[in-house]
Amino acid sequence: MPTVSGQMMQMPLSISSLIRHAARHAGDVEVVSRRVEGDLHRSTYAEVERRSRQVAQALARLGCELGERIGTLAWNGHRHLELFYGISGSGRVCHTVNPRLHADQIAWIINHAQDRVLFFDSTFLPLVEKLAPQLASVAHWVLMTARAQMPADSALKNLHCYEDLLAAEDGQWAWPEFDENTASGLCYTSGTTGMPKGVLYSHRSTVLHALGQVSVDAMGIGSRDVVLPVTPMFHVNAWGVPFAAPMVGAKLVLPGSRLDGASLHELMESERVTFTAGVPTVWLGLITHMKAHRLQFSTLRRTVIGGAACPPAMMRTLEDDFGLEVIHAWGMTETSPLGTLAHLKAKHAALDAESRRALQQKQGKVIYGVDLAIVDADDRPLPWDGCTPGQLLVRGQWVVDHYLGSSESPHIDLAGERWFPTGDVATIDADGYMQITDRSKDVIKSGGEWISSIVLENIAMAHPAVHEAAAIACHHPKWDERPLLVVVRKPGADVSAADLLRFFDGKVASWQVPDDVVFVDELPHTATGKLFKMALRQAYRDHRLPGV
Ligand code: AMP
Repeated sequence: MPTVSGQMMQMPLSISSLIRHAARHAGDVEVVSRRVEGDLHRSTYAEVERRSRQVAQALARLGCELGERIGTLAWNGHRHLELFYGISGSGRVCHTVNPRLHADQIAWIINHAQDRVLFFDSTFLPLVEKLAPQLASVAHWVLMTARAQMPADSALKNLHCYEDLLAAEDGQWAWPEFDENTASGLCYTSGTTGMPKGVLYSHRSTVLHALGQVSVDAMGIGSRDVVLPVTPMFHVNAWGVPFAAPMVGAKLVLPGSRLDGASLHELMESERVTFTAGVPTVWLGLITHMKAHRLQFSTLRRTVIGGAACPPAMMRTLEDDFGLEVIHAWGMTETSPLGTLAHLKAKHAALDAESRRALQQKQGKVIYGVDLAIVDADDRPLPWDGCTPGQLLVRGQWVVDHYLGSSESPHIDLAGERWFPTGDVATIDADGYMQITDRSKDVIKSGGEWISSIVLENIAMAHPAVHEAAAIACHHPKWDERPLLVVVRKPGADVSAADLLRFFDGKVASWQVPDDVVFVDELPHTATGKLFKMALRQAYRDHRLPGV
């Protein structure tokens, strides 16, 4: 029997619909940003929508065609937000470039994406001037500032002032409607191994992701919230918060370049922030600052921590000492990024506090739109028993199909379905809670057995003298690899290697206890604020373990 069409309105999912909705139904809700100029700028969704239309007009005046990539090198701020909507909403592709990457990688990415215009914050003027001769596709450079802050002269030809470009437009322009599968945004993976790969999001994937994201089992953001994304807009679009907040009409607070503990705490307090999201490293700075000055949060209630494993000790501190609800989440650039979040189910209400915590410390369960599987080395599905680790596969409406410029599909076929191999190793329990045991390249393989670097780091982080810890594989003549712990002590704290290793007694099997500890002043981080384990592995490749 032929199927019958439904008789509902056909309205393509579009990014512009989010800001139009916010302007119409939450037009007076504030968007507050810490500008590179140093001041706090106050705007509203109505104003952001109007200025986004001016951005779209300015792009047309610069001769940008639909579908062209427009690059940004910018912090979290209102102008960046206007670009998100003005670029994507007009049918062009907003390519957020991570300024913390190495200059060569930035040039490579912009060339690969063939960005036509580059918008950048004044912080990055010297970098852009240096890279410009290598960036042949870029026809226009736009400094995201006002006329008064423009440099007297610059090596850049065709350098425009953002506020001048907008002032030349009247905003009399209507958002176009197009196919919801049209490309909207572009992010490159961090590229800690090999060259970065481009993930090209669509309007449909972005809006569906935002719908999933605001639900109570995900970030649970609503119109009563004041949302501060610490995660940069150049790291998977600040995890989608700039789309989710206007969707629900939540006040948005954008912290600019000031991500130190003192600045973040001050901004959260002064703007009465209720919800925030960021990687664990950001919290290290915030916790240290708040403890040193005996501070508390008066409005912040919930935070999503992801991008790297949240150490249980950090979760306990945030919950017990600062009264926050911590939601542990997992995702990746290739998954827009939300995949799983560690919310409890109704059946867990009766669990004792420690068992509940054990579940909340996992990376969590999927939201609708995402599905997970774990497989062995021959791509055979593994059981969901909470203890068998396997390669984590993911599929869903906001999961990448293939990378930009590559026709090769990275997918694995399971019973006729396409699954994306994440490169993570995980267990899944009978209730669907996923726990990352490692990134496959970070697993420590000792005598054929796997040791989870995350488990070792979590234990070390629970020691009162430890500020940050990384566990890496070190070459061993007999066992092939053995764990080495690289540790930053808390200021003024004193702990010896032997004391720290004794702390592992009874917490893991004795053969999993690290062989040695190296104390350092600081650990390397990637451009997205995660531990840069590849650099550590290289630095300690020849470290002599005791007894070798
Ligand atoms: P990126 O694409 O840069 O966001 O990196 C994605 C990778 O970060 C994932 O594949 C994981 O290896 C790691 N990751 C993200 N969230 C978590 C988490 N909650 N726990 C452990 N690893 C995580």
